Amino acid sequence: MYYLDEKLEPILVEVIRRNAGEEVFHQAVREVLESLGRVVAKHPDYLDEALIERICEPERQIIFRVPWVDDTGQVRINRGFRVQFNSALGPYKGGVRLHPSVNVGIIKFLGFEQVFKNALTGLPIGGGKGGSDFNPRGRSNGEIMRFCQSFMTELSRHIGEYIDVPAGDIGVGGREIGYMFGQFKRLTNRYEAGVLTGKGLAYGGSRARKEATGYGATYFVERMLATKGQSFDGKRAVVSGSGNVAIYTMDKITSFGGRIVACSDSGGYVVDEGGIDVALVKEIKEVRRERISQYARLKGNGARYVEKGSIWDVPCDVAMPSATQNELTGKDAKTLVRNGVIAVGEGANMPTTPEGVRIFQEAGVLFAPGKAANAGGVATSALEMQQNASRDSWSFEQTETRLAAIMANIHDACAETADEYGAPGDYVLGANIAGFVRVAEAMRSLGV
Ligand code: GLU
Repeated sequence: MYYLDEKLEPILVEVIRRNAGEEVFHQAVREVLESLGRVVAKHPDYLDEALIERICEPERQIIFRVPWVDDTGQVRINRGFRVQFNSALGPYKGGVRLHPSVNVGIIKFLGFEQVFKNALTGLPIGGGKGGSDFNPRGRSNGEIMRFCQSFMTELSRHIGEYIDVPAGDIGVGGREIGYMFGQFKRLTNRYEAGVLTGKGLAYGGSRARKEATGYGATYFVERMLATKGQSFDGKRAVVSGSGNVAIYTMDKITSFGGRIVACSDSGGYVVDEGGIDVALVKEIKEVRRERISQYARLKGNGARYVEKGSIWDVPCDVAMPSATQNELTGKDAKTLVRNGVIAVGEGANMPTTPEGVRIFQEAGVLFAPGKAANAGGVATSALEMQQNASRDSWSFEQTETRLAAIMANIHDACAETADEYGAPGDYVLGANIAGFVRVAEAMRSLGV
C-alpha cells in the first residue's frame, strides 16, 4: 500500500548511513517519508532547501554520563541522552524515558515522532526526547532520587522554559519529575516552573495532565468510531500495558460504556471477563509499584494471569496498544483481524510494526497512529506551560475541555488531510502529512 517515492529514497538512504544500526529510528523515518510521496507530487517545492532532509536530522544531540551511588555505597554509571530534534514551532518538548533498552536510536525515533505529534496539537512546541538506560525496577526511593538528581545535574545546562521542556515517559512519573525539578531549582536558584511538565499539583503541575494521554487517546478513538456510526458503548476493549497511559485509557473507555477485558505488563497479561477493575490496577501499579500478576491474586473471582504470551490473543472490538514500540506484530494483527477487531488506537509511540499497520489497513480496520492518538499528553503539557507562564491554575473541567477540543481538532485535521491527499480514512497518512506541513512551513519561513 505504501511505497517510497524515488525522489525521497536518497533521503532515507542518507538517514540510514548517518545513523547506522538505529533500526527503530529508520523505521519511524521510513513511515513518514512513505507518506510524503503524495506531498512532493502535489508540492514539489518541499524538496527545495533540503527541507525534508533537514527535518530528518536532529538539531542537537546530547549524550552524557550519569554517575550515582546505590544503597550499598557502590558507584553506578548510566548513559543519559537528550535529542533536541526540531525547534521551528517552539521550544523542544518531549518526555524522558528511563528503561534499560534506551539507546540513542530509540531516543531519536521518539524525538522524531514527537516533532510531528507536537505540530498536530496546534500548540507552540517543538520536538525532543531524552532518557537513560537506567533500570528503575527494584530500585529504592533513595536510589531513584539520587539517579534523577545526577541526571538533572547535566541536563540542567541544556533546558529551560524557552529552550527545552522535558516531561515523563516510560519509567518517569510524578515522583521522578519532582526529584528532577527539585534539583533544577537547587542548581539554578530559580523557580522556573515552566522548565518541566508533569509536575505535582503542589508545585505548578496541571490538573488532568496525569490522565491526559489515556483520556486523549480514548477521545480520539471515540471520534474515529463515530465516523462509522459506532462508539465505545458496549464494546470489548483490550489495553496493553498498565502504566500511566493504559490506566487512564481504561478509565475513560469504562466511563464511555466500554468493557476492558485485558491489560498487561512486560511479564504477562491479565484477563478479567467481568471488566478490569481499574482502581485495583491503579493500586497495584501506582501505590504498591508491583507487577500486574498481583491483579489475579488480589481480585480472585474469574480473573486469570497469563505469563508471557500475547495479550492480542484476547478477542476484542477495540485494541489500544499502550505499552511500548513494536509490541503489536503482523502476527498479532492477523489474530486481531480474525477475531473481529474494528478499531485500533495507539496509546504508546509506534507500538504497531509496519506489517501490523498494513494488515489492519488492508482489512479496513480503523487505525489511529500514536503520533495523533496519544498527543493528548504533550498537548496538556503545553497547557501546563501556559498555566505556568501566566502563574495560573485551571480547574480539572477547564483543562479536560481544552484537551477534548484539541483531540477533536487533531482527529479532524488527520481525516481531512487524508481526504485531501486522496486516501480517505488513512489516519497514518493524514497525521504524517498534516504534522509535516506545519513544521515545514515554519522551517521555510525561518530560513536555512
Ligand atoms: N512522553 C509523552 C509523549 O510521548 C509526553 C511528552 C510531554 O508531555 O512532553 O508524548
